[in-house]
Amino acid sequence: MKTTTRVAVIGGGVVGCSVLYHLTKLGWSDVMLLERSELTSGSTWHAAGGFHTLNGDTNMAALQGYTIRLYKELEEITGMSCGLHHVGGITLADNRDRFDMLLAERAKHRFMGLETEIVGPEEIAKIAPITNLDGIIGALYDPLDGHLDPSGTTHAYAKAARMGGATIETHCMVRETNQRPDGSWDVVTDKGTIHAEHIVNAGGLWAREVGAMAGVYFPLHPMEHQYIVTDDIPEIYERGSEHPHVMDPAGESYLRQEGRGLCIGFYEQPCKPWAVDGTPWTFGHELLPDDFDKIEESIEFAYKRFPVLARAGVKSVIHGPFTFAPDGNPLVGPVPGMRNYWSACGVMAGFSQGGGVGLTLAQWMIEGEPERDVMALDVARFGSWISPGYTRPKVIENYQKRFSVSYPNEELPAARPNRTTPMYDIFSDMGAVWGQQYGLEVANYFAQGDEPTYETPSFRRSDAFAATGREVRGVRQGVGVNEVHNFGKYLVKGPRARAWLDRIMAGRIPAPGRLSLTPMLSAKGKLIGDFTVSCLSETEFQLTASYGSQAYHMRWFQQHEEDGATIENISDKRNGFQIAGPKARAVLAACTRDDVDSLRFMDVRRMVVGMTDCIVQRVSYTGDLGYEIYCDPMAQRQLWWTLWQAGQAHGMVPFGMRAMMSLRLDKFFGSWMREFSPDYTAAETGLDRFISFKKNTDFIGRAAAEAERAAGPARRLCAFEVEADDADVNAYEPIWLDGAVVGFCTSGGYSHHAGKSIAQGFLPSDRIAEGLEVEIEILGQMRKARVISRPLFDADGARMRG
Ligand SMILES: Cc1cc2nc3c(=O)[nH]c(=O)nc-3n(C[C@H](O)[C@H](O)[C@H](O)COP(=O)(O)OP(=O)(O)OC[C@H]3O[C@@H](n4cnc5c(N)ncnc54)[C@H](O)[C@@H]3O)c2cc1C
Repeated sequence: MKTTTRVAVIGGGVVGCSVLYHLTKLGWSDVMLLERSELTSGSTWHAAGGFHTLNGDTNMAALQGYTIRLYKELEEITGMSCGLHHVGGITLADNRDRFDMLLAERAKHRFMGLETEIVGPEEIAKIAPITNLDGIIGALYDPLDGHLDPSGTTHAYAKAARMGGATIETHCMVRETNQRPDGSWDVVTDKGTIHAEHIVNAGGLWAREVGAMAGVYFPLHPMEHQYIVTDDIPEIYERGSEHPHVMDPAGESYLRQEGRGLCIGFYEQPCKPWAVDGTPWTFGHELLPDDFDKIEESIEFAYKRFPVLARAGVKSVIHGPFTFAPDGNPLVGPVPGMRNYWSACGVMAGFSQGGGVGLTLAQWMIEGEPERDVMALDVARFGSWISPGYTRPKVIENYQKRFSVSYPNEELPAARPNRTTPMYDIFSDMGAVWGQQYGLEVANYFAQGDEPTYETPSFRRSDAFAATGREVRGVRQGVGVNEVHNFGKYLVKGPRARAWLDRIMAGRIPAPGRLSLTPMLSAKGKLIGDFTVSCLSETEFQLTASYGSQAYHMRWFQQHEEDGATIENISDKRNGFQIAGPKARAVLAACTRDDVDSLRFMDVRRMVVGMTDCIVQRVSYTGDLGYEIYCDPMAQRQLWWTLWQAGQAHGMVPFGMRAMMSLRLDKFFGSWMREFSPDYTAAETGLDRFISFKKNTDFIGRAAAEAERAAGPARRLCAFEVEADDADVNAYEPIWLDGAVVGFCTSGGYSHHAGKSIAQGFLPSDRIAEGLEVEIEILGQMRKARVISRPLFDADGARMRG
């Protein structure tokens, strides 16, 4: 056996083999896979082998599209069969909301180039004649749906990898992974120790145990899952062609042809987590005992939807475990806080996603960054707060909701409340209706009077509309207050703090007492952060950015650490409030003896507010006159009472994230992971106005940003006024011009201040003109929209700066 390798991939399921193949495909041949038994010995061998592109996240859908297209390539390279059946598939809708979701998906597919189609009952009857159409209002047809042979496909990946120079050791159990001081790894196996520069955890069912060998907790959990294969069914084998897949979300089932019969699997509500305290190493090529009790109701439903099933006998039952992360997406990428340790686990749909996971990881390792935004599957999307106690209920919830409608405004209830600030009870008493971000409870709005204390999930304007409008008016006409707990915050200190920031951030680093806004770029010029930098002194800076990207940003900071500058994540150590609106200055002035009038727009200053030492900065994401006031969380309640009491004379209202998102639209401010994400560049989004090309630093991404400045971006972010009805833009709606899709929306909503529906989105640079009339497809309806460039509130910035 080889004893040194550049990469040791641990685990020979479909994911490990895909990673191995992609490493060779991108040019690394000194790579090795270690499998404790035979290839496919985890979840892979008993999978149903179905694949599809449908995914609410467009980047995940693109990754699934890549995976499906790859199979032909694999067959050609290896001469092996993946047992492909490209039979197409439909996803049924039996109510308006489900149909809305399919319409929204179809709309996204237009700019992704996916040839899906909305079909009505008559067409469904032709495509899938075994379906009982009672109550069905439509379906989404995807010609790319199909299934394959899980074992054949895994072996094809393995053969292709071997052809690229990779080595595979089966019956080679990894017992320990020990890091050397230089960051490389000793991988201790039954067959000896291998010295590897990098390791990849593709341990599937055992990924938790493999992670624990290096002291890493991976937030994933196995769930039991069952599908049934029927005896021969004449309505199936007498057809001239193979029956397509049918997903029936109402029945939580997926169905396809298997031989001369059918195969149907369920995501049942009484589902069961498996191996709660760890996957036994003794679990081999085996199945779990049949459990018809938990799928009894699902079977009854399926008999009604597909009556042929009731007449067919059961040929076999496949009941096995596979793993999920808390949100159902894979855990991929460099593990935060570790050197040369990579994750390729938590893949619950290995045959829809495995190829894309392998490609993403190989690009990250070899080229330094993946080609597209992979936040949805980045292992860094969970923070250090995550624990098995959180993961388990979230995984159960995810399994149960696998086929549920997911709404843009939906707040899932499992594992909540988890992390709360000292304001939780006070705000709850004031009517806070909570959402969550990155495990943290965040007020969406404050229900007053008969306003709903639960926001009903919807694709259309929700029942929180009136409360949101009331809060927006409260801010614009008086003063609003909310917490700054959901900002990611970092403290950069040391003699080289400024020099380090100058290299990491593309923008100007401010002078003491001042703030600046700056994009953070990857080497390829992609947006990987959108920061406010506050200079507290020449050697101390506070950074604020998205709360949900803490582990992502800290991983980047740590990868680029330098002597003379320390970086600390203080997101939960520094808290406080923002106050915004025309009366904000008067409120702050009433709470401090400091000279508030002399605090200019974009100033930062230490001030005593009430009894509390605070950092006060004059800036507000509402676009209004506003202040962010940061304090030690131990003093937060005291600060609250001070501000709230002073605010009473000025009609202060608490406001939540729903109002905040409406307020920021008035000024066309972008939002992280909507307008600003690693899919886009600074020039495309307009953030290039904050890049300092004048500064004498070779900041990361400079060459790419300069090249783009010279050439000009092919597309640019614009704002639109939309003639919407009861549904505003959410994200990824296609933008039509002259009968063709020319762009897509990044976000949108209702400006309660202006009484208008607003969207933001990309158009080709050469088509953009003030007043340009376009159409935006919202839930299957073409809505007139026009490009606008003048903000709806305080267009000249007089109030914000005044
Ligand atoms: C009943 C059922 C039906 C399914 N149907 C579908 C479907 O239709 N479509 C779909 O896309 N997905 C389906 N899945 C899910 C699919 O099986 C998984 O997504 C996929 O198999 C995950 O592959 P993996 O490589 O990540 O993990 P695994 O297949 O679990 O592979 C992990 C491998 O790592 C090895 N390993 C672990 N620890 C060590 C160690 N210490 N040393 C060496 N080797 C180690 C194991 O032996 C194993 O071979 C189904 C799952 C089940 C249970």
